[in-house]
Amino acid sequence: MKKVLAFDIDQTLNVAKTPITDEIADLLTKCLEHFEICPISGQKFDQFLIQIVNRLPNPSPELLSHLHLFVAQGTQYYRFDPAKKDWVQVYNYPLTDEQVAKITKTIETAAKELGYWEEDKLQPGDEIIENRLSQVTFSALGQKAGTEEKYAWDPDHKKRDQIAARCQELTPEFEYEVAGTTSINAITPGMNKVFGMTHLLEELNVKKEDILYFGDMTQPGGNDYPVVQMGIDTITVRSHEDTAYALRGILGIL
Ligand SMILES: [Mg+2]
Repeated sequence: MKKVLAFDIDQTLNVAKTPITDEIADLLTKCLEHFEICPISGQKFDQFLIQIVNRLPNPSPELLSHLHLFVAQGTQYYRFDPAKKDWVQVYNYPLTDEQVAKITKTIETAAKELGYWEEDKLQPGDEIIENRLSQVTFSALGQKAGTEEKYAWDPDHKKRDQIAARCQELTPEFEYEVAGTTSINAITPGMNKVFGMTHLLEELNVKKEDILYFGDMTQPGGNDYPVVQMGIDTITVRSHEDTAYALRGILGIL
């Protein structure tokens, strides 16, 4: 039997950038009683709290100790310390300032060349490129754009595939991965979900075959694809509804 259920977040556990539903919160809580639960995504730590942890119905500190947060593709790892009753950072591998500056310039150049730099559509105070410490993230319409607007922007990832390909030409020393609904994550080679999953294996002292991974971007070029390439058992979902369906099945046969 699997020991670990690992999840991409956006489009796998939730509608991108929004908190998980009551149903997913309830299913994850039940799963915590049987499995180590590891969300892994390009998001920042505070988004893991907002989207997942704060939505769980009254979890005990003991239960939370089975939840492992692999932030920024697992280049940062947080676990819950039941004694301190708080989250502790176990490790962090940030980009350097020079790397962040170079990536930021590359993405802006590529998006402008291709006519996909949508600065005029941003809400006040919002930004297209965000430094997430271990990665730099392009969000075409910013962080605050509405969900529908985001879905409509690039449903077939064609715009982002073009931007990512151009970025790759400009600065081949980095990797550019399509993610979420309007995003591209820029990382240093190897600092993708393979990095996070490899550390997960180490930190949780488990083997690849102990893990079942859920993701929506498992196609080549997608940000869940590296997990597939590692040979970890993967379930491809279209949305959190598929994930809920699979989790009900898993809990049903325990
Ligand atoms: Mg996703």
